[in-house]
Amino acid sequence: MRRTRQAKIVATLGPASSDPAVVRQLFIAGVDVFRLNFSHGSHADHAARFKTLRALEQETGRPIAILADLQGPKLRVGTFAEGPVTLASGQAFRLDLDPAPGTAQRAGLPHPEIFAALVPGAELLLDDGKLRLVVERCGADFADTRVVAGGRLSERKGVNVPGVVLPITALTDKDRRDLALALELGADWIALSFVQRPQDVIEARALIGDRAAIVVKLEKPSAVEQLDEIVALADAVMVARGDLGVELPAERVPAIQKRIVRSCRRLGKPVIVATQMLESMIDSPVPTRAEASDVATAIYDGADAVMLSAESASGKYPVVAVEMMNRIIEQVEADPAYRQLIDASHASARPGGDVAEAVCCAMRRAVTLLQAAAIVCYTSSGHTSLRAARERPPSPILSLTPRLATARRLALVWGVHSVWTDDVADVDRMSERACEVARRDRFAAPGQFIVTIAGMPFGTPGTTNLIRIAAA
Ligand code: PEP
Repeated sequence: MRRTRQAKIVATLGPASSDPAVVRQLFIAGVDVFRLNFSHGSHADHAARFKTLRALEQETGRPIAILADLQGPKLRVGTFAEGPVTLASGQAFRLDLDPAPGTAQRAGLPHPEIFAALVPGAELLLDDGKLRLVVERCGADFADTRVVAGGRLSERKGVNVPGVVLPITALTDKDRRDLALALELGADWIALSFVQRPQDVIEARALIGDRAAIVVKLEKPSAVEQLDEIVALADAVMVARGDLGVELPAERVPAIQKRIVRSCRRLGKPVIVATQMLESMIDSPVPTRAEASDVATAIYDGADAVMLSAESASGKYPVVAVEMMNRIIEQVEADPAYRQLIDASHASARPGGDVAEAVCCAMRRAVTLLQAAAIVCYTSSGHTSLRAARERPPSPILSLTPRLATARRLALVWGVHSVWTDDVADVDRMSERACEVARRDRFAAPGQFIVTIAGMPFGTPGTTNLIRIAAA
């Protein structure tokens, strides 16, 4: 089974899509990476979804990536004595550490680290930014604020503090418990929420090691300010537009999205554009024109993947939403302007690059000149396939690896058709195997050129140093 598009689809599983029959339909419709959102659901729910996905992988023989998305330090107000309250613009409102239920004058905010970091003038956003407060006075256990944008506030609503770097790590106790389960079950990718600084990624890496690859969710202004440093430390990045659009004004999100995609493409890190892509399909079998255009924009920009959240997790049309996303991607990739835009936005190699870069540039040139049917990458860690994908070449990338974990991770990557296969002993055997798989998976007809790249000695990560051209 092969996809006929280069960009990938990530879909979130939830109550609307956990039945094995629905998961199978989602996969057939085009999902490459399944996201389990640890902000919702029990450990038993997530374990059952893992089981379903691994059984589907067995049945189809195609590697499937599982992305475990950790909740991160989501901050919330406490409870209210008499149900939801209404805050009027201009009124005073106190937040404090008192666990007593709140009123229209005050509420508990059980996060001492927020009070430690607040300063007069700081802004607090409540309930996805619907309510806005500005701090007038604050201490170690309270903040007296003025309501700038009022509204109804109910218990446990989220709190964002956009302008302040909070002294908290990206992994809460709940995240550590969820991470332990995700690793035990064998998650391929772990997504970190609310990363604020490079150190957050370094700390998570120390815990995770090489047991899974790390997706950094970019949703905090402080992370965007240190973009290249954080992208360099991540294995992949998610443009988490939901919280990003709360922490920053919505009109700033498009330019930041494009900046993140450019940075990831330059550094060769897979990038996912996420949230509200086909939002109206939660309730409707067709998207708005604006949503179709939003998915298309991410594809024209060269993103590796686009993501569905509530559309596939709890919406009425999970499979239809994936089919729609699949069709939009295919339409964009068939547009002659797509290739021109991808080429124009490709960051060419500069003098001073390394051997892998030189091999990949030569591969791109050879594939273009020969109109090769496919590129074959031999990879152990996935590094060679990532370098190939960074080139955004005009032919599909067949990635062969003896490591199942690598095959699964690469399901996220632009243009990569990932295959788990036996190891090969030498270059001749490698070339024969490349031709066999290219013909078997219908990437090349006999006589068509395929361009193979690999690293010698085999199995040594980061040594992409070989290019071989053969007829299939
Ligand atoms: C987001 O904020 O856009 C996002 C993907 O994260 P979550 O769904 O966990 O809020």
